[in-house]
Amino acid sequence: MRMDVQELSWTSMWTAWLIHTKIRKMFSKEIDHRQTNCLQFIVPYAHLHMKILVAFDFDHTIIDENSDLYVRKLAPGGTIPSEISQLYSNRGWTEYMGAIFQYLHDNNTTSKDIHDCMLEIPLVQGMKELFDFMNSDQFDVIIISDSNSVFIDDILSASDLSDIVQSVYTNPARFSQADCLELVYYHTQDWCELSTVNLCKGHILDSHIKLQAEQGVVYDVVAYVGDGTNDLCPALRLKSKTDLILPRIGYSLMEKLEDPHLDIRGTIIPWTTGQDIIMALKQSMSAADDKPHPDTTLS
Ligand SMILES: [Mg+2]
Repeated sequence: MRMDVQELSWTSMWTAWLIHTKIRKMFSKEIDHRQTNCLQFIVPYAHLHMKILVAFDFDHTIIDENSDLYVRKLAPGGTIPSEISQLYSNRGWTEYMGAIFQYLHDNNTTSKDIHDCMLEIPLVQGMKELFDFMNSDQFDVIIISDSNSVFIDDILSASDLSDIVQSVYTNPARFSQADCLELVYYHTQDWCELSTVNLCKGHILDSHIKLQAEQGVVYDVVAYVGDGTNDLCPALRLKSKTDLILPRIGYSLMEKLEDPHLDIRGTIIPWTTGQDIIMALKQSMSAADDKPHPDTTLS
């Protein structure tokens, strides 16, 4: 019986010592060591919590044509009269396209003809795989384009990409009651010399990021994918080396980015196919494994 009491006593002392040690650790510097050990488990999965914004141009980036130029094939003989072509230099691209749509309408082109014409345009190689890859909560995907909402909606719907795209920023368009396609400026801007008067892509990108931040969504990485001269402005808005500028190889944005006087802060990764962009995003995500994500900081 005495033995049992003694054993009980030892057990109690052992338990008390364990509790004492646990409490002491909780209030000592050893807690930092414990937190470090926790981070060793958490940090390898930091990329799972990353939020990445991928902003796309549309023409010659998602699709392998310029939709505005492609639709001209519907004109009689596939040519546009010179008086309409002159509008481009005199009043800008949006007026020029408006005149083309009116010309097509005057020559009996229907909305169905235009919808069908858009569906002929192929996606850039690997673009479908890229969008499938980005189809998760980890990515926000937006499009910023100087095309128009009808063309983009047609092609995204036909390609089953609509649900993956969070927002499309482009010139609003619709068919009138007479079945003529009409479009208006996305906005009217006078603050950016790199952009056309109807669309400053950099301003739109900044506004999207700001709006998301106000709603509690902060991006760890911003990637901009484009091909043309009007993609330079958003490319220059990227703020850190972890952000990605993705210019399509063989197109004018690549040349523009070679200007040594530019203040380029993002990392430039040229691409040819959607698979190249998947690789770039995967590298960006694995690079995040090397540094703790703010969410993993215990304080
Ligand atoms: Mg383009």
